[in-house]
Amino acid sequence: MDDLLIRGGRVLDGTGAPGREADVVIAGARITEIAPGSTRTAKREIDARGQVVAPGFIDIHTHSDYTLPLNPRAESKIRQGVTTEVVGNCGFPSRRRCPAPRRCSRNTSPPAPLGCR
Ligand SMILES: [Zn+2]
Repeated sequence: MDDLLIRGGRVLDGTGAPGREADVVIAGARITEIAPGSTRTAKREIDARGQVVAPGFIDIHTHSDYTLPLNPRAESKIRQGVTTEVVGNCGFPSRRRCPAPRRCSRNTSPPAPLGCR
Protein backbone atom coordinates (compact mmCIF):
# COMPACT_ATOMS: atom_id res chain seq x y z
CA MET A 1 0.00 0.00 0.00
CA ASP A 2 1.26 3.45 -0.92
CA ASP A 3 1.24 6.43 1.40
CA LEU A 4 -0.65 9.01 -0.62
CA LEU A 5 -2.83 9.01 -3.71
CA ILE A 6 -3.79 12.35 -5.22
CA ARG A 7 -6.62 11.46 -7.51
CA GLY A 8 -7.95 13.19 -10.61
CA GLY A 9 -6.11 16.50 -10.49
CA ARG A 10 -4.77 18.40 -13.44
CA VAL A 11 -1.05 17.65 -13.22
CA LEU A 12 1.40 20.37 -14.23
CA ASP A 13 4.82 18.76 -14.16
CA GLY A 14 6.97 21.86 -14.59
CA THR A 15 8.24 20.93 -18.06
CA GLY A 16 6.04 23.47 -19.81
CA ALA A 17 3.84 20.72 -21.22
CA PRO A 18 0.08 21.29 -21.00
CA GLY A 19 -1.59 19.98 -17.87
CA ARG A 20 -3.14 16.53 -17.98
CA GLU A 21 -5.61 14.80 -15.73
CA ALA A 22 -3.87 12.07 -13.74
CA ASP A 23 -3.47 10.40 -10.39
CA VAL A 24 -0.25 10.89 -8.45
CA VAL A 25 0.89 8.06 -6.20
CA ILE A 26 3.49 8.66 -3.48
CA ALA A 27 5.34 6.11 -1.34
CA GLY A 28 7.59 7.54 1.32
CA ALA A 29 9.22 10.60 -0.19
CA ARG A 30 8.99 9.39 -3.80
CA ILE A 31 6.41 9.76 -6.53
CA THR A 32 5.92 6.23 -7.77
CA GLU A 33 3.29 6.74 -10.44
CA ILE A 34 1.66 9.50 -12.45
CA ALA A 35 -1.10 8.06 -14.59
CA PRO A 36 -4.81 8.43 -15.12
CA GLY A 37 -7.17 5.95 -13.44
CA SER A 38 -4.73 4.43 -10.97
CA THR A 39 -5.97 1.24 -9.31
CA ARG A 40 -3.47 1.48 -6.48
CA THR A 41 -4.47 2.04 -2.89
CA ALA A 42 -2.93 4.37 -0.36
CA LYS A 43 -3.15 5.15 3.33
CA ARG A 44 -4.45 8.61 2.46
CA GLU A 45 -6.30 9.72 -0.63
CA ILE A 46 -6.98 13.27 -1.77
CA ASP A 47 -9.70 14.02 -4.28
CA ALA A 48 -8.09 16.65 -6.49
CA ARG A 49 -10.74 16.78 -9.21
CA GLY A 50 -11.05 20.36 -10.39
CA GLN A 51 -7.71 21.25 -8.77
CA VAL A 52 -4.17 21.64 -10.05
CA VAL A 53 -1.43 19.32 -8.83
CA ALA A 54 2.05 20.78 -9.24
CA PRO A 55 5.52 20.24 -7.85
CA GLY A 56 6.76 22.76 -5.33
CA PHE A 57 7.49 26.26 -6.47
CA ILE A 58 10.88 27.93 -6.36
CA ASP A 59 10.86 31.47 -5.01
CA ILE A 60 13.96 32.95 -6.63
CA HIS A 61 14.07 36.21 -4.70
CA THR A 62 13.28 36.18 -1.03
CA HIS A 63 14.55 37.76 2.13
CA SER A 64 13.71 34.70 4.18
CA ASP A 65 17.26 34.64 5.49
CA TYR A 66 15.91 37.27 7.88
CA THR A 67 12.85 35.30 8.96
CA LEU A 68 14.06 31.69 8.93
CA PRO A 69 16.10 32.13 12.14
CA LEU A 70 12.88 33.27 13.83
CA ASN A 71 10.50 30.85 12.12
CA PRO A 72 12.49 27.87 10.83
CA ARG A 73 9.39 25.93 9.73
CA ALA A 74 8.40 28.67 7.27
CA GLU A 75 4.86 27.32 7.20
CA SER A 76 3.49 30.35 5.40
CA LYS A 77 5.75 29.55 2.45
CA ILE A 78 4.91 25.87 2.50
CA ARG A 79 1.21 26.66 2.46
CA GLN A 80 1.77 28.72 -0.68
CA GLY A 81 3.48 25.77 -2.35
CA VAL A 82 6.99 27.15 -2.09
CA THR A 83 9.44 24.34 -1.44
CA THR A 84 12.70 26.03 -2.41
CA GLU A 85 13.89 29.55 -1.76
CA VAL A 86 16.89 31.48 -2.97
CA VAL A 87 18.13 33.74 -0.19
CA GLY A 88 21.00 36.16 0.16
CA ASN A 89 19.64 38.51 -2.47
CA CYS A 90 20.30 42.23 -2.54
CA GLY A 91 23.64 41.87 -0.77
CA PHE A 92 22.28 41.80 2.75
CA PRO A 93 24.04 39.55 5.22
CA SER A 94 21.81 37.08 7.00
CA ARG A 95 23.56 37.41 10.34
CA ARG A 96 23.42 40.98 11.55
CA ARG A 97 22.78 42.15 15.01
CA CYS A 98 19.26 43.37 15.55
CA PRO A 99 19.02 47.15 16.01
CA ALA A 100 15.85 46.77 18.11
CA PRO A 101 16.43 43.63 20.19
CA ARG A 102 13.47 44.29 22.49
CA ARG A 103 11.10 43.88 19.55
CA CYS A 104 12.68 40.65 18.34
CA SER A 105 12.22 37.21 19.82
CA ARG A 106 15.91 36.61 19.21
CA ASN A 107 18.74 39.05 19.14
CA THR A 108 19.93 37.67 15.81
CA SER A 109 17.11 39.11 13.77
CA PRO A 110 18.54 41.49 11.21
CA PRO A 111 16.94 44.79 10.34
CA ALA A 112 14.51 45.10 7.47
CA PRO A 113 16.20 45.38 4.07
CA LEU A 114 16.97 48.84 2.79
CA GLY A 115 13.95 50.30 1.09
CA CYS A 116 11.64 48.13 3.20
CA ARG A 117 11.57 50.36 6.29
ZN1 LIG B 1 15.69 41.77 -2.35
